[in-house]
Amino acid sequence: MKKILWALLLSGPTTLLSAPKKVTILTDPLDNWPGATRNLMEKAAAIVFDRMSEHDIAQCAYRNAFRENVDKVRRQWGSEITVLNKNPEVTLKVLKKKLDRSILGLAQLSKAQVDPTYFRIHHLEIILNEINLNQFAEQYPAAEGDQELGLWVNTIAHELAHNFGYRHGSSGVWVKDYPGYFPTELGFCVMSNGKHGSDLGNYELRRKFKDTR
Ligand SMILES: [Zn+2]
Repeated sequence: MKKILWALLLSGPTTLLSAPKKVTILTDPLDNWPGATRNLMEKAAAIVFDRMSEHDIAQCAYRNAFRENVDKVRRQWGSEITVLNKNPEVTLKVLKKKLDRSILGLAQLSKAQVDPTYFRIHHLEIILNEINLNQFAEQYPAAEGDQELGLWVNTIAHELAHNFGYRHGSSGVWVKDYPGYFPTELGFCVMSNGKHGSDLGNYELRRKFKDTR
């Protein structure tokens, strides 16, 4: 969530044909993505844009966002996904950095520019922690069989929510800062294809989250 600005050189765009809309991923050539890692990231990004603007996924995120003013979130995200759905193409800049192990990704808050007149979204840009994305997958709760892919899907959706201006806590305690906030719940709902939020459908876990103040 830190505000991060730096200059970059962009490599040639990669087009993902599997997504219903045209998704272009831009990377910094200096990041030197290994082929398999880049493929996984592109696959994850395609899944995110495939699911993120769906009604059922949004409903899942609202349902689980118990720390938010859900009416406010519903109004804002509802108008943003309308633009996303009418937007035939989207460009996402993905940077890869070696960060502390506790961080999965970073994104600048409210970086995205939503143009409701021409149905365009500009300035989507996220940073992924290559340390965790390669080593942390097993420790992270994942809903789908492919844990590593799920982790990337979750992280990309979460960071994109920050680009759209949604935030969560910052006390440094996961259970206080993340569950019940829109970026977290959107991430888990996109990852699970609308099945559940960060409680993974576990009632006890949900109660624990809700009891944490
Ligand atoms: Zn976050």
